[in-house]
Amino acid sequence: MTARHDDSSEQLILDSIAKWLARDVEPYAMKLEHDDEYPQAMVAQMKELGLFGATIAPEWGGLGLSATTYAKIVTMISESWMSLTGIFNSHLMLAKAIEKFGTLEQKKKYLPRLTSGELRGGTALTEPDAGTDLQGIRTKAVRQGEHYVVNGTKTWITNGHHGQIFALLVKTDSTATPPRKGMSMLIAEKAQGFTVSRKLEKLGYHGIDSAELIFEDYRVPAENLIGGEEGKGFYHAVGGLELGRINVAARGVGIANRALKEAIKYSQQRKTFGKFIHEHQAIQLKLAEMATKCEAARLLVESAARAYDAGQRCDMEAGMAKYFASETAVENSLEAMRIHGGYGYSKEFIVERLYRDAPLMTIGEGTNEMQRIIIARQLIERNLI
Ligand SMILES: Cc1cc2nc3c(=O)[nH]c(=O)nc-3n(C[C@H](O)[C@H](O)[C@H](O)COP(=O)(O)OP(=O)(O)OC[C@H]3O[C@@H](n4cnc5c(N)ncnc54)[C@H](O)[C@@H]3O)c2cc1C
Repeated sequence: MTARHDDSSEQLILDSIAKWLARDVEPYAMKLEHDDEYPQAMVAQMKELGLFGATIAPEWGGLGLSATTYAKIVTMISESWMSLTGIFNSHLMLAKAIEKFGTLEQKKKYLPRLTSGELRGGTALTEPDAGTDLQGIRTKAVRQGEHYVVNGTKTWITNGHHGQIFALLVKTDSTATPPRKGMSMLIAEKAQGFTVSRKLEKLGYHGIDSAELIFEDYRVPAENLIGGEEGKGFYHAVGGLELGRINVAARGVGIANRALKEAIKYSQQRKTFGKFIHEHQAIQLKLAEMATKCEAARLLVESAARAYDAGQRCDMEAGMAKYFASETAVENSLEAMRIHGGYGYSKEFIVERLYRDAPLMTIGEGTNEMQRIIIARQLIERNLI
Protein backbone atom coordinates (compact mmCIF):
# COMPACT_ATOMS: atom_id res chain seq x y z
CA MET A 1 0.00 0.00 0.00
CA THR A 2 1.24 3.47 -0.74
CA ALA A 3 0.43 6.56 1.28
CA ARG A 4 -2.01 8.68 -0.73
CA HIS A 5 -2.71 11.35 1.83
CA ASP A 6 -0.58 14.27 2.88
CA ASP A 7 -0.42 15.53 6.45
CA SER A 8 -3.23 18.08 6.08
CA SER A 9 -5.72 15.64 4.55
CA GLU A 10 -4.79 13.09 7.20
CA GLN A 11 -5.53 15.69 9.87
CA LEU A 12 -8.93 16.45 8.30
CA ILE A 13 -9.87 12.78 8.44
CA LEU A 14 -8.66 12.41 12.02
CA ASP A 15 -10.57 15.56 13.03
CA SER A 16 -13.83 14.29 11.55
CA ILE A 17 -13.36 10.93 13.32
CA ALA A 18 -12.70 12.76 16.62
CA LYS A 19 -15.89 14.82 16.22
CA TRP A 20 -17.93 11.74 15.38
CA LEU A 21 -16.60 9.86 18.42
CA ALA A 22 -17.37 12.73 20.79
CA ARG A 23 -20.85 13.40 19.38
CA ASP A 24 -22.18 9.99 18.30
CA VAL A 25 -20.18 7.27 20.04
CA GLU A 26 -19.05 8.27 23.55
CA PRO A 27 -22.54 9.10 24.85
CA TYR A 28 -24.03 5.79 23.67
CA ALA A 29 -21.24 3.18 23.73
CA MET A 30 -21.59 2.19 27.40
CA LYS A 31 -25.26 1.24 27.16
CA LEU A 32 -24.99 -0.52 23.81
CA GLU A 33 -22.01 -2.49 25.10
CA HIS A 34 -23.70 -3.57 28.29
CA ASP A 35 -26.85 -4.57 26.36
CA ASP A 36 -24.71 -6.32 23.71
CA GLU A 37 -26.71 -4.42 21.11
CA TYR A 38 -25.54 -4.05 17.50
CA PRO A 39 -24.77 -0.34 16.89
CA GLN A 40 -26.95 0.15 13.78
CA ALA A 41 -26.80 3.96 13.85
CA MET A 42 -23.01 3.96 14.21
CA VAL A 43 -22.68 1.53 11.30
CA ALA A 44 -24.63 3.98 9.13
CA GLN A 45 -22.31 6.79 10.29
CA MET A 46 -19.24 4.66 9.58
CA LYS A 47 -20.53 4.23 6.02
CA GLU A 48 -20.76 8.02 5.69
CA LEU A 49 -17.22 8.39 7.01
CA GLY A 50 -15.98 5.96 4.35
CA LEU A 51 -14.59 3.49 6.88
CA PHE A 52 -15.79 0.43 4.95
CA GLY A 53 -13.38 1.39 2.18
CA ALA A 54 -10.68 2.97 4.36
CA THR A 55 -7.68 1.04 3.01
CA ILE A 56 -9.05 0.30 -0.47
CA ALA A 57 -7.94 2.32 -3.52
CA PRO A 58 -10.04 5.33 -4.61
CA GLU A 59 -10.60 3.74 -8.05
CA TRP A 60 -12.85 1.24 -6.23
CA GLY A 61 -14.54 3.88 -4.11
CA GLY A 62 -12.21 3.57 -1.11
CA LEU A 63 -10.31 6.26 0.80
CA GLY A 64 -6.93 4.72 -0.07
CA LEU A 65 -5.54 5.46 3.38
CA SER A 66 -2.01 4.46 4.30
CA ALA A 67 -1.52 1.91 7.07
CA THR A 68 -0.09 4.74 9.18
CA THR A 69 -3.27 6.83 8.97
CA TYR A 70 -5.49 3.79 9.29
CA ALA A 71 -3.70 2.71 12.49
CA LYS A 72 -4.26 6.18 14.00
CA ILE A 73 -7.98 5.97 13.21
CA VAL A 74 -8.23 2.48 14.73
CA THR A 75 -6.46 3.69 17.88
CA MET A 76 -8.80 6.67 18.23
CA ILE A 77 -11.95 4.60 17.78
CA SER A 78 -10.68 1.92 20.19
CA GLU A 79 -10.22 4.60 22.83
CA SER A 80 -13.97 5.13 22.62
CA TRP A 81 -15.25 1.64 21.80
CA MET A 82 -13.01 -1.07 20.39
CA SER A 83 -15.90 -3.22 19.08
CA LEU A 84 -16.60 -0.70 16.31
CA THR A 85 -13.20 -1.31 14.73
CA GLY A 86 -14.04 -5.01 14.26
CA ILE A 87 -17.09 -4.12 12.20
CA PHE A 88 -15.02 -2.46 9.49
CA ASN A 89 -11.70 -4.22 9.94
CA SER A 90 -12.91 -7.78 9.28
CA HIS A 91 -14.84 -6.34 6.35
CA LEU A 92 -11.70 -4.62 5.02
CA MET A 93 -9.78 -7.90 5.18
CA LEU A 94 -12.33 -9.40 2.79
CA ALA A 95 -12.20 -6.31 0.52
CA LYS A 96 -8.40 -6.28 0.63
CA ALA A 97 -8.22 -9.95 -0.37
CA ILE A 98 -10.36 -9.16 -3.43
CA GLU A 99 -8.41 -6.00 -4.25
CA LYS A 100 -5.03 -7.71 -3.88
CA PHE A 101 -5.70 -11.16 -5.29
CA GLY A 102 -9.07 -11.04 -7.11
CA THR A 103 -9.71 -11.07 -10.85
CA LEU A 104 -10.72 -7.82 -12.56
CA GLU A 105 -14.32 -9.11 -12.80
CA GLN A 106 -14.38 -9.87 -9.06
CA LYS A 107 -13.06 -6.39 -8.25
CA LYS A 108 -15.63 -4.72 -10.50
CA LYS A 109 -18.47 -6.81 -9.15
CA TYR A 110 -17.74 -6.51 -5.43
CA LEU A 111 -15.39 -3.68 -4.49
CA PRO A 112 -17.66 -0.66 -5.14
CA ARG A 113 -20.44 -2.18 -3.03
CA LEU A 114 -17.99 -3.21 -0.31
CA THR A 115 -16.29 0.19 -0.06
CA SER A 116 -19.65 1.96 0.19
CA GLY A 117 -20.74 -0.42 2.95
CA GLU A 118 -23.80 -1.47 0.95
CA LEU A 119 -22.47 -5.04 1.21
CA ARG A 120 -20.77 -5.83 4.50
CA GLY A 121 -18.99 -8.93 5.71
CA GLY A 122 -15.80 -10.47 6.97
CA THR A 123 -13.30 -13.28 6.81
CA ALA A 124 -14.15 -16.90 7.63
CA LEU A 125 -11.01 -18.91 8.37
CA THR A 126 -11.35 -20.44 11.84
CA GLU A 127 -13.16 -23.75 12.47
CA PRO A 128 -14.11 -25.55 15.67
CA ASP A 129 -10.98 -27.74 15.33
CA ALA A 130 -8.58 -25.34 13.62
CA GLY A 131 -7.56 -21.77 14.46
CA THR A 132 -3.82 -21.22 14.70
CA ASP A 133 -3.22 -24.32 12.60
CA LEU A 134 -5.16 -23.15 9.56
CA GLN A 135 -3.93 -25.99 7.39
CA GLY A 136 -6.03 -28.28 9.59
CA ILE A 137 -9.37 -26.88 8.35
CA ARG A 138 -11.94 -29.40 7.15
CA THR A 139 -14.44 -27.30 5.18
CA LYS A 140 -14.45 -28.77 1.69
CA ALA A 141 -15.42 -27.29 -1.66
CA VAL A 142 -15.99 -29.77 -4.47
CA ARG A 143 -16.21 -28.51 -8.05
CA GLN A 144 -19.41 -29.54 -9.84
CA GLY A 145 -19.68 -27.93 -13.26
CA GLU A 146 -19.79 -24.16 -12.87
CA HIS A 147 -20.14 -24.30 -9.06
CA TYR A 148 -18.32 -25.35 -5.92
CA VAL A 149 -20.39 -27.30 -3.41
CA VAL A 150 -19.27 -26.41 0.12
CA ASN A 151 -19.73 -28.42 3.33
CA GLY A 152 -18.26 -27.52 6.73
CA THR A 153 -18.43 -25.26 9.78
CA LYS A 154 -16.69 -21.98 10.61
CA THR A 155 -16.65 -20.44 14.05
CA TRP A 156 -15.92 -17.13 15.76
CA ILE A 157 -16.69 -15.28 12.55
CA THR A 158 -16.86 -11.54 13.14
CA ASN A 159 -19.90 -9.94 11.46
CA GLY A 160 -21.17 -13.48 10.86
CA HIS A 161 -24.74 -12.58 11.74
CA HIS A 162 -25.06 -9.04 10.35
CA GLY A 163 -22.73 -9.48 7.36
CA GLN A 164 -23.83 -10.75 3.96
CA ILE A 165 -20.54 -11.79 2.34
CA PHE A 166 -17.35 -13.53 3.48
CA ALA A 167 -13.91 -14.54 2.28
CA LEU A 168 -14.28 -18.27 2.93
CA LEU A 169 -11.21 -20.49 3.33
CA VAL A 170 -11.85 -24.03 2.07
CA LYS A 171 -10.02 -27.16 1.01
CA THR A 172 -10.39 -27.83 -2.72
CA ASP A 173 -7.91 -30.71 -2.53
CA SER A 174 -7.78 -32.58 0.78
CA THR A 175 -4.96 -34.85 -0.40
CA ALA A 176 -2.44 -32.09 -1.17
CA THR A 177 0.92 -32.06 0.59
CA PRO A 178 1.64 -29.79 2.24
CA PRO A 179 -2.07 -29.22 2.95
CA ARG A 180 -1.85 -25.46 2.24
CA LYS A 181 -1.42 -26.25 -1.47
CA GLY A 182 -4.95 -27.67 -1.51
CA MET A 183 -6.55 -24.60 0.04
CA SER A 184 -8.60 -21.95 -1.78
CA MET A 185 -10.54 -18.81 -0.92
CA LEU A 186 -14.09 -18.26 -2.13
CA ILE A 187 -16.22 -15.13 -2.11
CA ALA A 188 -19.28 -16.50 -0.29
CA GLU A 189 -22.56 -14.57 -0.28
CA LYS A 190 -25.33 -15.72 2.00
CA ALA A 191 -27.72 -18.03 0.14
CA GLN A 192 -29.40 -21.39 0.51
CA GLY A 193 -27.10 -23.84 2.35
CA PHE A 194 -25.19 -21.04 4.18
CA THR A 195 -26.72 -20.51 7.62
CA VAL A 196 -25.78 -18.85 10.89
CA SER A 197 -26.26 -21.51 13.55
CA ARG A 198 -25.64 -19.33 16.60
CA LYS A 199 -24.31 -16.05 17.88
CA LEU A 200 -21.48 -16.68 20.37
CA GLU A 201 -21.58 -15.19 23.87
CA LYS A 202 -18.33 -13.45 24.86
CA LEU A 203 -16.47 -11.93 27.81
CA GLY A 204 -16.17 -8.60 26.00
CA TYR A 205 -16.18 -7.27 22.40
CA HIS A 206 -19.91 -6.80 22.85
CA GLY A 207 -22.20 -5.12 20.33
CA ILE A 208 -20.47 -6.85 17.45
CA ASP A 209 -21.59 -10.30 16.39
CA SER A 210 -19.29 -13.34 16.46
CA ALA A 211 -21.04 -16.31 14.91
CA GLU A 212 -20.83 -19.93 13.94
CA LEU A 213 -21.52 -20.50 10.24
CA ILE A 214 -22.72 -23.77 8.74
CA PHE A 215 -22.33 -24.76 5.10
CA GLU A 216 -24.50 -27.63 3.89
CA ASP A 217 -24.34 -28.31 0.16
CA TYR A 218 -23.92 -24.57 -0.27
CA ARG A 219 -23.31 -23.72 -3.94
CA VAL A 220 -20.89 -20.95 -4.87
CA PRO A 221 -20.36 -19.96 -8.52
CA ALA A 222 -16.89 -21.09 -9.65
CA GLU A 223 -16.24 -17.50 -10.79
CA ASN A 224 -16.13 -16.58 -7.05
CA LEU A 225 -12.84 -18.41 -6.53
CA ILE A 226 -10.55 -15.52 -5.55
CA GLY A 227 -7.94 -15.01 -8.29
CA GLY A 228 -9.52 -17.79 -10.36
CA GLU A 229 -6.88 -20.34 -9.38
CA GLU A 230 -7.19 -23.17 -6.84
CA GLY A 231 -4.49 -23.80 -4.24
CA LYS A 232 -3.79 -20.13 -3.39
CA GLY A 233 -6.21 -19.66 -0.48
CA PHE A 234 -3.71 -20.14 2.33
CA TYR A 235 -1.46 -17.46 0.83
CA HIS A 236 -4.43 -15.14 0.38
CA ALA A 237 -5.30 -15.65 4.05
CA VAL A 238 -1.83 -15.02 5.41
CA GLY A 239 -1.23 -12.20 2.87
CA GLY A 240 -3.49 -9.93 4.92
CA LEU A 241 -1.95 -10.72 8.27
CA GLU A 242 0.67 -7.96 8.44
CA LEU A 243 -1.95 -5.24 8.07
CA GLY A 244 -4.28 -7.24 10.31
CA ARG A 245 -1.65 -7.35 13.05
CA ILE A 246 -0.95 -3.63 12.76
CA ASN A 247 -4.69 -3.09 13.16
CA VAL A 248 -4.94 -5.29 16.29
CA ALA A 249 -1.87 -3.55 17.72
CA ALA A 250 -3.52 -0.17 17.08
CA ARG A 251 -6.62 -1.38 18.92
CA GLY A 252 -4.37 -2.39 21.82
CA VAL A 253 -2.86 1.10 21.91
CA GLY A 254 -6.37 2.58 22.00
CA ILE A 255 -7.42 0.45 24.97
CA ALA A 256 -4.13 1.10 26.80
CA ASN A 257 -4.40 4.86 26.18
CA ARG A 258 -7.97 5.04 27.45
CA ALA A 259 -7.04 3.05 30.56
CA LEU A 260 -4.24 5.54 31.24
CA LYS A 261 -6.51 8.56 30.66
CA GLU A 262 -9.18 7.19 32.98
CA ALA A 263 -6.55 6.42 35.64
CA ILE A 264 -5.05 9.93 35.41
CA LYS A 265 -8.50 11.49 35.73
CA TYR A 266 -9.66 9.33 38.62
CA SER A 267 -6.40 9.75 40.53
CA GLN A 268 -7.14 13.51 40.63
CA GLN A 269 -10.69 13.01 41.91
CA ARG A 270 -10.27 10.37 44.60
CA LYS A 271 -8.80 11.27 47.98
CA THR A 272 -7.46 8.89 50.63
CA PHE A 273 -5.67 9.83 53.84
CA GLY A 274 -6.24 13.50 53.07
CA LYS A 275 -4.52 13.43 49.67
CA PHE A 276 -5.48 12.86 46.05
CA ILE A 277 -4.37 9.34 45.26
CA HIS A 278 -1.98 10.56 42.52
CA GLU A 279 0.06 12.04 45.35
CA HIS A 280 0.78 8.55 46.69
CA GLN A 281 3.99 7.18 45.26
CA ALA A 282 2.45 3.74 44.67
CA ILE A 283 -0.05 5.31 42.23
CA GLN A 284 2.62 7.49 40.62
CA LEU A 285 4.70 4.40 39.81
CA LYS A 286 1.69 2.79 38.15
CA LEU A 287 0.87 5.88 36.07
CA ALA A 288 4.47 6.24 34.94
CA GLU A 289 4.66 2.58 33.87
CA MET A 290 1.37 2.80 32.03
CA ALA A 291 2.30 5.99 30.17
CA THR A 292 5.72 4.69 29.17
CA LYS A 293 4.24 1.49 27.78
CA CYS A 294 1.56 3.43 25.86
CA GLU A 295 4.23 5.51 24.19
CA ALA A 296 6.39 2.49 23.38
CA ALA A 297 3.40 0.59 21.95
CA ARG A 298 2.38 3.58 19.82
CA LEU A 299 5.88 3.92 18.40
CA LEU A 300 6.05 0.19 17.57
CA VAL A 301 2.74 0.45 15.70
CA GLU A 302 3.89 3.56 13.85
CA SER A 303 7.16 1.95 12.88
CA ALA A 304 5.47 -1.25 11.60
CA ALA A 305 2.88 0.82 9.68
CA ARG A 306 5.59 2.98 8.10
CA ALA A 307 7.49 -0.14 6.97
CA TYR A 308 4.24 -1.56 5.53
CA ASP A 309 3.53 1.70 3.67
CA ALA A 310 7.07 1.68 2.25
CA GLY A 311 6.42 -1.82 0.86
CA GLN A 312 9.06 -3.37 3.13
CA ARG A 313 8.81 -6.80 4.67
CA CYS A 314 7.41 -6.16 8.16
CA ASP A 315 6.19 -9.46 9.61
CA MET A 316 8.61 -9.15 12.55
CA GLU A 317 7.77 -5.48 13.10
CA ALA A 318 4.02 -6.08 12.91
CA GLY A 319 4.43 -9.07 15.25
CA MET A 320 6.37 -7.00 17.79
CA ALA A 321 3.79 -4.21 17.66
CA LYS A 322 0.89 -6.63 18.03
CA TYR A 323 2.55 -8.53 20.87
CA PHE A 324 3.65 -5.51 22.89
CA ALA A 325 0.58 -3.33 22.33
CA SER A 326 -1.87 -6.10 23.21
CA GLU A 327 0.01 -7.06 26.38
CA THR A 328 0.11 -3.34 27.28
CA ALA A 329 -3.66 -3.15 26.82
CA VAL A 330 -4.12 -6.08 29.22
CA GLU A 331 -1.69 -4.66 31.80
CA ASN A 332 -2.94 -1.07 31.62
CA SER A 333 -6.60 -2.02 31.87
CA LEU A 334 -5.88 -4.06 35.01
CA GLU A 335 -3.78 -1.26 36.52
CA ALA A 336 -6.49 1.29 35.74
CA MET A 337 -9.00 -0.97 37.47
CA ARG A 338 -6.79 -1.21 40.55
CA ILE A 339 -6.34 2.56 40.63
CA HIS A 340 -10.14 2.87 40.65
CA GLY A 341 -10.33 0.59 43.70
CA GLY A 342 -13.78 -0.95 44.15
CA TYR A 343 -15.28 1.40 41.57
CA GLY A 344 -13.11 -0.19 38.88
CA TYR A 345 -15.09 -3.37 39.35
CA SER A 346 -18.35 -1.54 38.75
CA LYS A 347 -20.13 -1.41 35.42
CA GLU A 348 -20.53 2.33 35.91
CA PHE A 349 -16.90 2.97 34.98
CA ILE A 350 -15.39 2.34 31.56
CA VAL A 351 -12.29 0.58 32.96
CA GLU A 352 -14.44 -2.51 33.59
CA ARG A 353 -15.14 -2.72 29.85
CA LEU A 354 -11.50 -2.09 28.89
CA TYR A 355 -10.49 -4.97 31.15
CA ARG A 356 -12.93 -7.32 29.38
CA ASP A 357 -12.01 -6.12 25.87
CA ALA A 358 -8.22 -6.14 26.18
CA PRO A 359 -7.53 -9.93 26.23
CA LEU A 360 -9.01 -10.39 22.76
CA MET A 361 -6.07 -8.44 21.35
CA THR A 362 -3.71 -11.18 22.58
CA ILE A 363 -5.67 -13.80 20.57
CA GLY A 364 -6.84 -12.23 17.28
CA GLU A 365 -4.67 -12.19 14.12
CA GLY A 366 -2.36 -14.83 15.56
CA THR A 367 -2.02 -15.45 19.28
CA ASN A 368 0.80 -13.81 21.20
CA GLU A 369 2.46 -17.19 21.62
CA MET A 370 2.67 -17.35 17.82
CA GLN A 371 3.84 -13.74 17.55
CA ARG A 372 6.88 -14.48 19.65
CA ILE A 373 7.64 -17.56 17.55
CA ILE A 374 7.39 -15.43 14.37
CA ILE A 375 9.63 -12.75 15.89
CA ALA A 376 12.25 -15.32 16.93
CA ARG A 377 12.22 -17.04 13.51
CA GLN A 378 12.73 -13.70 11.81
CA LEU A 379 15.55 -12.79 14.18
CA ILE A 380 17.40 -15.91 13.08
CA GLU A 381 16.53 -15.55 9.38
CA ARG A 382 17.71 -11.96 9.29
CA ASN A 383 20.89 -12.69 11.23
CA LEU A 384 22.14 -15.96 9.78
CA ILE A 385 25.81 -16.61 10.45
C1 LIG B 1 -13.96 -12.49 19.47
C2 LIG B 1 -13.25 -13.27 18.40
C3 LIG B 1 -13.39 -12.89 17.08
C4 LIG B 1 -12.79 -13.66 16.06
N1 LIG B 1 -13.01 -13.31 14.75
C5 LIG B 1 -12.59 -14.15 13.77
C6 LIG B 1 -12.95 -13.92 12.41
O1 LIG B 1 -13.60 -12.93 12.06
N2 LIG B 1 -12.55 -14.81 11.48
C7 LIG B 1 -11.83 -15.93 11.80
O2 LIG B 1 -11.51 -16.71 10.89
N3 LIG B 1 -11.46 -16.18 13.09
C8 LIG B 1 -11.84 -15.33 14.07
N4 LIG B 1 -11.50 -15.58 15.38
C9 LIG B 1 -10.75 -16.78 15.71
C10 LIG B 1 -9.30 -16.50 16.10
O3 LIG B 1 -8.58 -16.10 14.97
C11 LIG B 1 -8.75 -17.78 16.74
O4 LIG B 1 -9.40 -17.95 17.98
C12 LIG B 1 -7.25 -17.72 16.92
O5 LIG B 1 -6.62 -17.80 15.67
C13 LIG B 1 -6.73 -18.86 17.80
O6 LIG B 1 -7.19 -20.08 17.35
P1 LIG B 1 -7.90 -21.11 18.36
O7 LIG B 1 -8.91 -20.36 19.12
O8 LIG B 1 -8.33 -22.29 17.56
O9 LIG B 1 -6.75 -21.53 19.36
P2 LIG B 1 -5.69 -22.74 19.15
O10 LIG B 1 -5.08 -22.61 17.81
O11 LIG B 1 -6.35 -24.00 19.49
O12 LIG B 1 -4.61 -22.38 20.25
C14 LIG B 1 -4.76 -22.72 21.64
C15 LIG B 1 -3.51 -22.29 22.38
O13 LIG B 1 -2.35 -22.99 21.87
C16 LIG B 1 -1.35 -22.06 21.45
N5 LIG B 1 -0.67 -22.59 20.27
C17 LIG B 1 -1.24 -23.11 19.15
N6 LIG B 1 -0.28 -23.53 18.30
C18 LIG B 1 0.91 -23.27 18.89
C19 LIG B 1 2.27 -23.45 18.50
N7 LIG B 1 2.62 -23.97 17.33
N8 LIG B 1 3.24 -23.08 19.37
C20 LIG B 1 2.93 -22.52 20.56
N9 LIG B 1 1.64 -22.30 20.98
C21 LIG B 1 0.67 -22.67 20.15
C22 LIG B 1 -2.11 -20.79 21.13
O14 LIG B 1 -1.26 -19.65 21.20
C23 LIG B 1 -3.18 -20.80 22.22
O15 LIG B 1 -2.60 -20.32 23.41
C24 LIG B 1 -12.03 -14.79 16.40
C25 LIG B 1 -11.84 -15.14 17.75
C26 LIG B 1 -12.45 -14.40 18.75
C27 LIG B 1 -12.28 -14.83 20.18
